[in-house]
Amino acid sequence: MALILSPKTSTCRCIAIMGQDTILRCDGRELRFSDLIELRKGQEEGVLLEERHNNLCSLGLSQTQDLPNGFCSVSLRNYYASEGEDLASPHFRAKALHEWLGKTRFCTRCGARLVPGTAEEETSLVCPECGDIVYPRIEPCIIVLVRRGNDILLALHNRRNAQYYSCLAGFMEAGESAEQAVRREIMEETGITVRNIRYFGSQSWPFPSQLMLGFTAEYESGDIRIQESELQRADWFPRDHCPITPPKGSLAYRLIHQE
Ligand SMILES: [Zn+2]
Repeated sequence: MALILSPKTSTCRCIAIMGQDTILRCDGRELRFSDLIELRKGQEEGVLLEERHNNLCSLGLSQTQDLPNGFCSVSLRNYYASEGEDLASPHFRAKALHEWLGKTRFCTRCGARLVPGTAEEETSLVCPECGDIVYPRIEPCIIVLVRRGNDILLALHNRRNAQYYSCLAGFMEAGESAEQAVRREIMEETGITVRNIRYFGSQSWPFPSQLMLGFTAEYESGDIRIQESELQRADWFPRDHCPITPPKGSLAYRLIHQE
């Protein structure tokens, strides 16, 4: 990988990320390298990253800014929902990489400033002092739809997405399997036990760096007793009479509506 500090040309696919948005050309054409240079004008902290092995050149702008004429921005979540995983995937990668670069400046072992790795076939940062190699960080999370007959378990969270009911979810702990994380999260948040945990599918979710691992499970025992630090409410709902659920494009939506 290479951080492009002095502009030159790149033949890679070009993507520009600004905060939680991706920047598109209003004429519908793909961004070109010259567009990235134009978008970076006056935004000198904007990082240009070229990954030839991924055919991807991306610009990361942290600040929301007025865009030059001919460009518009769209939320990455909406882009994923409307365009689908294949088209959204490089945008999600660019988002994840710039999130990682923005908060990975120094070696956690010796404190030296990290520099871009020189290996062409991978994306990494390297410590020039101790040689430690740092790769883009992914944080695995589980998300699970629990069924009880025709009903599904949905919860209103305290902090994130408090405007709609969703599946239970949480970060995996070091040393546990995804299935163990499913059991633990459901027990911690609602006090019930489950059986027949089945893998459903996964989704990159770079807000900031999650890999969502989706599961289904069947109710086994217990009454709902919510963890008040995490949830406002949790209840069983008939699948065809759900409350407001997360929007299309999320793994939670696919789990709840079984797309
Ligand atoms: Zn070091």
